[in-house]
Amino acid sequence: MSDFAQTVKQQADIVKVIEGYIRLRKAGAQNYTGLCPFHKEKSPSFSVHAVRQFYHCFGCGVSGDVFSFVGKIENVGFPEAVRIVAQKCGIPLPKREFSSPEEAAGARQRAKLLELHEAATAWFQEQLRGPEGAVAREYLAGRGLSADGIKAFRVGYSPDSFNALRERLSGMADQETLRLSGLFSSKEQGDGSMGPLYDRFRKRVMFPIANESGRVIAFTARTLETGDKAGPKYINSPETPLYSKGQVLFNLDKARTAIRQMEFALLVEGQMDCISVFLRGIQNVIATSGTAFTEQQVALLRRHTSQVVANFDPDAAGANAAAKTVALLTEEGFTIKIVTLDDGLDPDRYIRERGVPAYTAALRGARSQADFLIERARQMFPGQSSEQKVKAMNYLLPHIRRMPQKLSRDQFAADAAQKLGIDSAVLREELRQAALRRQDHVEMRTSSLSEVERVLLRALAIDDPADEEARRAASDAIERQPDKFQHLRAFPAMQALARRQANDPMNVVADESQRALLAETLLAEVKPPTENEVLSAIQEIKERGIENRQRDLRALIAEAERRGDFAELAVLTQQKLELDRVLRQLHQPW
Ligand SMILES: [Zn+2]
Repeated sequence: MSDFAQTVKQQADIVKVIEGYIRLRKAGAQNYTGLCPFHKEKSPSFSVHAVRQFYHCFGCGVSGDVFSFVGKIENVGFPEAVRIVAQKCGIPLPKREFSSPEEAAGARQRAKLLELHEAATAWFQEQLRGPEGAVAREYLAGRGLSADGIKAFRVGYSPDSFNALRERLSGMADQETLRLSGLFSSKEQGDGSMGPLYDRFRKRVMFPIANESGRVIAFTARTLETGDKAGPKYINSPETPLYSKGQVLFNLDKARTAIRQMEFALLVEGQMDCISVFLRGIQNVIATSGTAFTEQQVALLRRHTSQVVANFDPDAAGANAAAKTVALLTEEGFTIKIVTLDDGLDPDRYIRERGVPAYTAALRGARSQADFLIERARQMFPGQSSEQKVKAMNYLLPHIRRMPQKLSRDQFAADAAQKLGIDSAVLREELRQAALRRQDHVEMRTSSLSEVERVLLRALAIDDPADEEARRAASDAIERQPDKFQHLRAFPAMQALARRQANDPMNVVADESQRALLAETLLAEVKPPTENEVLSAIQEIKERGIENRQRDLRALIAEAERRGDFAELAVLTQQKLELDRVLRQLHQPW
């Protein structure tokens, strides 16, 4: 590990860093637990050791330090993980922390694109305040957006010009970078080359889209034109090195704290809905931007909560995207409830016309996903004919199979049968079968280490010089008489630990399953063992080893007697006597 990485590791608090991704709860003097971000689960088996600064999942067995966590969750290599942790902790990066020139160039390019978006955002805000922005201000006032709200979401206005923004930004970056930013368009020329850049967004209200850290990476732009010239009502930034539509959740940067506190996320479709609801004090709200959820978005959200209340538009298109999102979230183990507002209102209008208390009451009245889907099946296939019932059931079966918990599947199937009025035994059996299929989530692995093995491991992992004697007793025993310990399950870890210098114990054990044994043991530890505990553990391990060999010898002796093999019998008896002697010696005081 480089000096820089070492410095970062010393200054970073793994609990704080991990809390930036998932919710943790204090579970002991030095432990925190939460839902594992690396496998699907409903009860927490992911633990973080605050003192020793490592994480371990009892469910899927992953473990490691702060860099390994960030590397895994961000899907990046070690140098990038170090960089990310350094940034989170406000530690300035040294000039060279990139593994390759391409990586360095990529990082420079992203930094430049962020700079361009920041400058564009500020400029759009300025335009909104200026004389040309009057028409946009009027529109926003009509949507009930206050000056504070406009400021909080950095809403702006792109004037009716093909080159105003280009002129503004052209001094900041070369043509290629400006083109990559997605803020400009150009037309393909006759010879196949791209023509000059012109402003992509014109005469539109500009809503910045921020990444999870609150940096602007793209825009949604609403037209203020009417008639033939208007074009699409909303246009978005294209995919750029900064922005990929399926990987962003609108407003997650502002909502994440509230999502953790309230332990659920409110999911709406439109950005305007999201802003409107947020500004009225319901701050755990995020938006999908009108399309069905992607797996990346699910992964993004899972770091903060596994409970969602979805409030989608009641129109057909909305209901379709909603059904897809509901299906995906269910499959991913989320608990999801669905709100349908009266009179087909969208969240923005509902909260403006009926007020916050009415809206929160509607949220409290959210239906379970099963109720929502059954209701939808009844609307799609109304009537009491058995043909309609079969269609409704066929619509529900895949949803039932997708639910990760068997209990909820059983309940869902029972509800569906009852509410659809299915009394045919055949259909009931079909539903029951759907509920049976699908494996429940990973079983918890249990440690199979004996108490004495755990004492040794803990002693070997001691870092405090005050407890040096206990550590030395353990490492000497293992270094001097490895044959007495090699039958132990955690022996490879013990050997690695016995030889370590001043290193972090979790870093010394390279084998993942051995590291998992160590992690489990350390997470269960209250305080390190004393020298006496270590010595008696060593003695017990030796005794048990001898007792095992005595047992083997007794069996061999009995076998030799049966065969009448007196030569063999003499050798074995001699060995047994020797063992008895060793065992007696062991029992003598130290
Ligand atoms: Zn896990």
